[in-house]
Amino acid sequence: MTSHAPNFYFPAPRLQKFCSQCGAENTQRIPPDDNRTRDVCDHCGAIHYQNPRNVVGVLPIRDDRILLCRRAIEPRYNKWTLPAGFMELGETTAQGAMRETQEEAGAQIELGPLYTVIDVPHAEQVHFFYLAKVLSDDLYPGPESIEAAFFRIEDIPWPELAFRTIITTLEHYIADSKAGVFPMHHYDIPTPFPKN
Ligand SMILES: [Zn+2]
Repeated sequence: MTSHAPNFYFPAPRLQKFCSQCGAENTQRIPPDDNRTRDVCDHCGAIHYQNPRNVVGVLPIRDDRILLCRRAIEPRYNKWTLPAGFMELGETTAQGAMRETQEEAGAQIELGPLYTVIDVPHAEQVHFFYLAKVLSDDLYPGPESIEAAFFRIEDIPWPELAFRTIITTLEHYIADSKAGVFPMHHYDIPTPFPKN
């Protein structure tokens, strides 16, 4: 490992036991002309690359309140989150953020600008949150949410928030609200969330 990238790491891939091309068992090794361990099929020669996944969501605002959803799924069951989830094939980050808001909160929103872009290398993810204006008090949370509710800033349940990208996005919003400007923030969360 070179000294110019002290935080860069080469994790072993999430083991994909069988080849998705031919069904033979994969082995994990570094292919020729590569520098990382991959799942390789010695039967058909396929190399199964794995890459970070995108999580897309919104920070939904209605006047002086923020919309949060209480998770009905693991991980972090019963914790509060911003509407967000894994991007689907064929959609843009904005479309994914709107879809997740519809699925998890059933909220009518008007999407605003991209607000936080957060690299989470230990989780092999990148998170994108858009600002959004909520157009109605009516919420219709879907099966992934126990409930959806609006919180004033002073009522945000900080110890009950699900993920650090949620906490930091809300912290930026509160700081920016005092300044009255909402620039995009791009930053890293380099270490795992402490277990509690
Ligand atoms: Zn194969």
